Amino acid sequence: MTARHTSALEALLVDDGFDGDVYPAEPMARHTMYRIGGPARFYVQVHSVGALKRLIAVCDASAVPWEAIGRGSNLLVADEGYSGVVITLGRDFRTCRYDEDTHCFCVGAGVPLSSVVQEAFRRSLAGFEFAVGTPGTVGGALRMNAGSREEWIGSRVVSVTTLSPETGLVRRDGDKIGWGYRTSSFRPDEVIVECELSVEPADPFFIRGKMEASHARRKKSQPLSLPSCGSVFRNPEGASVGALIEEAGLKGLAVGGAQVSDVHANFIVNTGDATARDVLELINLVKTKVYETYGIELQPEVRFLGFA
Ligand SMILES: Cc1cc2nc3c(=O)[nH]c(=O)nc-3n(C[C@H](O)[C@H](O)[C@H](O)COP(=O)(O)OP(=O)(O)OC[C@H]3O[C@@H](n4cnc5c(N)ncnc54)[C@H](O)[C@@H]3O)c2cc1C
Repeated sequence: MTARHTSALEALLVDDGFDGDVYPAEPMARHTMYRIGGPARFYVQVHSVGALKRLIAVCDASAVPWEAIGRGSNLLVADEGYSGVVITLGRDFRTCRYDEDTHCFCVGAGVPLSSVVQEAFRRSLAGFEFAVGTPGTVGGALRMNAGSREEWIGSRVVSVTTLSPETGLVRRDGDKIGWGYRTSSFRPDEVIVECELSVEPADPFFIRGKMEASHARRKKSQPLSLPSCGSVFRNPEGASVGALIEEAGLKGLAVGGAQVSDVHANFIVNTGDATARDVLELINLVKTKVYETYGIELQPEVRFLGFA
């Protein structure tokens, strides 16, 4: 470290040997599907496991908070931004290879989930039709156990490899990981780096039919023309949260530029100039009204970053 650098973190980030791209004070609105969010102290795209390892080790040693994200499709970032390091996965985490013997894709966590869907379709392999139109990366999908009501990615996982400052690289079988409704058992300090996903050969017409049905359902029922984070709340046991919000008369309710969608009541859309504060206020308003109407306490599915 030279005297010009005030911290070990800054020294690492300007090191010519560091295999990553560094963006100081990067507006997170550029990296979330909500198009909302103030600056991250550093936004870093790492291109190798080595760089990721160095970065999280230095952050931990310097007590700088960090968070790995994917495409920000399930993320609300505070207007004030995030005082730590936002990490995304570049080059070496963006490979996807199919093993014909095991019928598995070996996929980097930075690969878009849509690429897996398309590659499976191209090879007449079934298993990922449910994910048609789900934005985000494979890493984000695993963390969230993304899926539909009937199917989710966890049930397709043969193994996952993660990196954490405490344990280093660890590979775990899929059945050793806890998969719940939009939850998984990964620890907050674990970065998902790669996984093996199982598929099975099938009739291409069957696959195409399922994909088209999934796409049509989404197009009809979701407000895809406005920025959002997908479903804001998790469905309570045995109920549809969209129906609960709609029947409570909350469709169209707005705070600033944030609005409960007219198309799907469990989507809060950014109508143009919404702030994170608008979205959060609206989330809390919907929670309160649903509680007053049904006595049900809604739990958010959206993840928050940078809020006190
Ligand atoms: C229009 C729209 C439709 C959607 N439809 C669906 C749907 O049908 N089903 C569904 O389940 N979801 C849906 N979503 C929500 C979202 O797309 C999923 O949750 C997606 O899997 C998140 O992926 P991401 O890469 O964008 O993750 P991010 O939003 O970037 O992050 C989500 C969480 O995962 C963590 N994370 C991300 N990458 C990693 C990593 N490599 N290692 C460790 N943690 C990581 C983040 O820290 C964060 O906590 C929808 C969203 C939108 C905007």
